[in-house]
Amino acid sequence: MTPAPVDPTDFRDRHIGPDQHETSALLAPSGVETLEELADAVVPASIRPAGSGHGLSLPEPATEAQTLAELRAFADRNTVLASMIGMGYHDTVTPLVIQRNILQNPAWYTAYTPYQPEISQGRLEALLNFQTAVADLTALDIANASMLDEATAAAEAMTLARRTSRSKSPRFVVDADTLPQTLAVLRTRAVPLGIELLVADLDDGLPVGDCFGVLLSYPGASGAVRDHTDLVAAAHERDAKVIAATDLLALTLLRPPGEIGVDIAVGSSQRFGVPMGFGGPHAAFMAVRSELQRQLPGRLVGVSRDADGAAAFRLALQTREQHIRREKATSNICTAQVLLAVMASMYAVYHGPSGLTAIAEKVHLDAVLLAGALRERGVTVVHDSFFDTVRVEVPGRAGAIAAAARAHGVNLWRDGDDHLQISVAEATTAEQIAVVLRAFDVAAPARDELRFAGDGVLPAALQRTTEFLTHPVFNTHHSETNMLRYIRRLSDMDLALDRTMIPLGSCTMKLNATAEMEAVTWPEFAGLHPYAPAEDAAGLVDLIGQLERWLCDITGYDSVSLQPNAGSQGEFAGLLAISAYHASRGEGHRDICLIPASAHGTNAASAVMAGMKVVVVGTDDDGNIDLDDLHAKIAVHADALAAIMVTYPSTHGVYEETITDIADSVHAAGGQVYVDGANLNALVGLARPGTFGGDVSHLNLHKTFCIPHGGGGPGVGPVAVRAHLAPFLPSDPLGERGAVGPVSAARYGSASILPISWAYIRMMGGDGLRRATLTAVASANYVASRLRDHYPVLYTGHGGFVAHECILDLRGITTRTGVTVDDVAKRLADYGFHAPTMSFPVAGTLMVEPTESEDLAEIDRFVDAMIAIRGEIERVANGGWPVTDNPLRGAPHTAASLVGDWDHPYSRSEAVFPAGVTPAHKYFPPVRRIDGAFGDRNLVCSCPPIESYQ
Ligand SMILES: *Cc1c(COP(=O)(O)O)cnc(C)c1O
Repeated sequence: MTPAPVDPTDFRDRHIGPDQHETSALLAPSGVETLEELADAVVPASIRPAGSGHGLSLPEPATEAQTLAELRAFADRNTVLASMIGMGYHDTVTPLVIQRNILQNPAWYTAYTPYQPEISQGRLEALLNFQTAVADLTALDIANASMLDEATAAAEAMTLARRTSRSKSPRFVVDADTLPQTLAVLRTRAVPLGIELLVADLDDGLPVGDCFGVLLSYPGASGAVRDHTDLVAAAHERDAKVIAATDLLALTLLRPPGEIGVDIAVGSSQRFGVPMGFGGPHAAFMAVRSELQRQLPGRLVGVSRDADGAAAFRLALQTREQHIRREKATSNICTAQVLLAVMASMYAVYHGPSGLTAIAEKVHLDAVLLAGALRERGVTVVHDSFFDTVRVEVPGRAGAIAAAARAHGVNLWRDGDDHLQISVAEATTAEQIAVVLRAFDVAAPARDELRFAGDGVLPAALQRTTEFLTHPVFNTHHSETNMLRYIRRLSDMDLALDRTMIPLGSCTMKLNATAEMEAVTWPEFAGLHPYAPAEDAAGLVDLIGQLERWLCDITGYDSVSLQPNAGSQGEFAGLLAISAYHASRGEGHRDICLIPASAHGTNAASAVMAGMKVVVVGTDDDGNIDLDDLHAKIAVHADALAAIMVTYPSTHGVYEETITDIADSVHAAGGQVYVDGANLNALVGLARPGTFGGDVSHLNLHKTFCIPHGGGGPGVGPVAVRAHLAPFLPSDPLGERGAVGPVSAARYGSASILPISWAYIRMMGGDGLRRATLTAVASANYVASRLRDHYPVLYTGHGGFVAHECILDLRGITTRTGVTVDDVAKRLADYGFHAPTMSFPVAGTLMVEPTESEDLAEIDRFVDAMIAIRGEIERVANGGWPVTDNPLRGAPHTAASLVGDWDHPYSRSEAVFPAGVTPAHKYFPPVRRIDGAFGDRNLVCSCPPIESYQ
């Protein structure tokens, strides 16, 4: 066969791993010759649009060079002024050693959530540093490994307080001096849970009456630093939990919340070296007293030990999480903000306690000098005590002054006609401060005239006196050489997509192309403050609009909101839209949400947050929704039916034939159909949920649309709806509140990573996207057919095919041989692979999703490893190795485990160089198998003392 002509500039052939010949080989076991024949064989006619082809009206695909030129044109239409806006977002300086070696480094950004801890020790250590930094700075006992943003962190704290407070009051008191976006998101979250928000000026103490919690802002949104000690005591007297929304940089100088009795601290770590990015992504944080630790939402890294007794890290207390507890989970958070938490932690490692304090002092003193100069010339400075933000009263002149500063390149925060706020950040320069002073008609004093007299303006009682970041990790890596090596050392411990395929079912670990990533760090996108005047972001907003239209085209929906910053948040937004729609029609009593037993745990957790009651629908022997049970449940709940949430293709990787019937039945009973679109990689260009029965879906741009997983975030979970739900999409946190409030702090959520998905669609075009989808389906079917004789493939659909992933059923093997899915998953690390998804959606199985980006050789390498492992299992089965001592149970094997005595019935070479593993390319996991339960019993969630490593 003559090879097809190759166009080296065609991105589609870079994104899609298999070439034409390899594609034929992938298709062969399915008994079809072309991808289109596969489409006919696999995808049920009922969901396919009439006519042939993708039917998308996307532009023709662009090359990488054209795409970057178009992105450049969008960027050039943005204007990045110096930001002294503050309000929760600060102009920070990202150390370049962190930007290049983490944010721009695929070893970090292409990693998956550390559910396989033995191959994730690097990012787990970085996250433990993050937790330690947050716990130290807030002076609370334990912090989690990141929250989605400050506003949602505050909302999660509110529900944590409700779960743990002894007060049965439905009321939650919020400091009036709280960031407006936080207030707006708290409102959205409070309504469906029946929580009464009381926003109160707390200067005169707590309002009368009971409450289950109080949120204090420290410092306040106006910049004011208040002594909340008495309020905390008063709240505790009423059995309320106290939450402080706070600022990590300020806490280097301020008395920390834990020392004034606060129970929970939340905030954003953005100003620790993470660009503002027009609103996100950034890592927020939550820290609590130890008695609340088992109620913490989100992921928590803890220290445990491995099979050789060495200290090792893994995710702790996973029994709190939605994937285990579903509607009883502590929250619906799944994807969080790992990459950004890693960046913030590295910023703390690089600067250390004295560096951070120096940055905070510079910020504080500049603010003090600015306030002093203004005051001296008669401008009213509102607060006597502040950290970085100066609020001034300028009756009638706010607009003119802000405009004057803007004319010289500085954006300020304007609050009506009479007030302005000027927030000093790490990146603020003396020139920018001079611009501000001139805008007030205050002659800028010469820099050397500005001298700071005294200790700043923080009252003695509020000054920090305790140490923080005393652990050696924060006091060692301060030269760039050391920092570079530390970052490299950690990433070398981990397996990410830059070393191996990551065949994780339901997670779609596909290529995150360099061209897609390129624009993320461009200052025109990264440097924008979310509250900068609209014209500053004209280019990015247009790009976002285009991406919204493309996603509508791809999904068949009419409107989309990019605000949700993870799939879980998209689910919540979608369910709120459904509730609000019912309420708008006088059917607000509809509150039952049907969810199949096989659903992702976030579904049930989100339904509860949206105020719905979960009713589980059974699945039949083929894993499909049990239609009899569905009809029975619909009949019982018809009057109260709000929605069904179905994942399509199903969580077990099959195109269910009955989806249109299911949708019809639910609609007939007055319910809405929520199609969980996290598996859209099996639909793009083939079928559209918005036309085959869905009313609303969320998508995961960090799965299907190439935003890298970042080790567990960031993500974007757009919510897409048909026209009747469009009025119920999330509102702008700072704008007019619509029928449904905002679900995240910034209008466009994680705006600065949207160019990634834009670039992917731009370079693929309609044909390319369809080919990607079908290649992913072909690869999954190839894996299923090659492995079928070795491991039973659990479910198949139409014609015996799977969709984009397949489930390998190990339960029979485990019963017969004692070898478990865990053994197989850990043994894959010895072969240099990341394990497939374990025990989801069915316990005791592995779910494999190869994606379109892996070529035939890599897929074969994985399949061969699985077959070799099957051979090892056989050897255990026939008594060749005892079940308690064999290469599977001993996996993974470290380099250290090879030296010294060796008293296993298998050889060292069998341990670490099994079939297909070449010594020259060997990956050694840094730890042996980790005992998770030990760590949960002996919970340690901050950096362990250095001696414990010896
Ligand atoms: C990944 C996934 C989700 C959750 O998405 P996050 O971004 O992690 O919150 C929900 N449903 C399904 C089926 C998924 O695979």
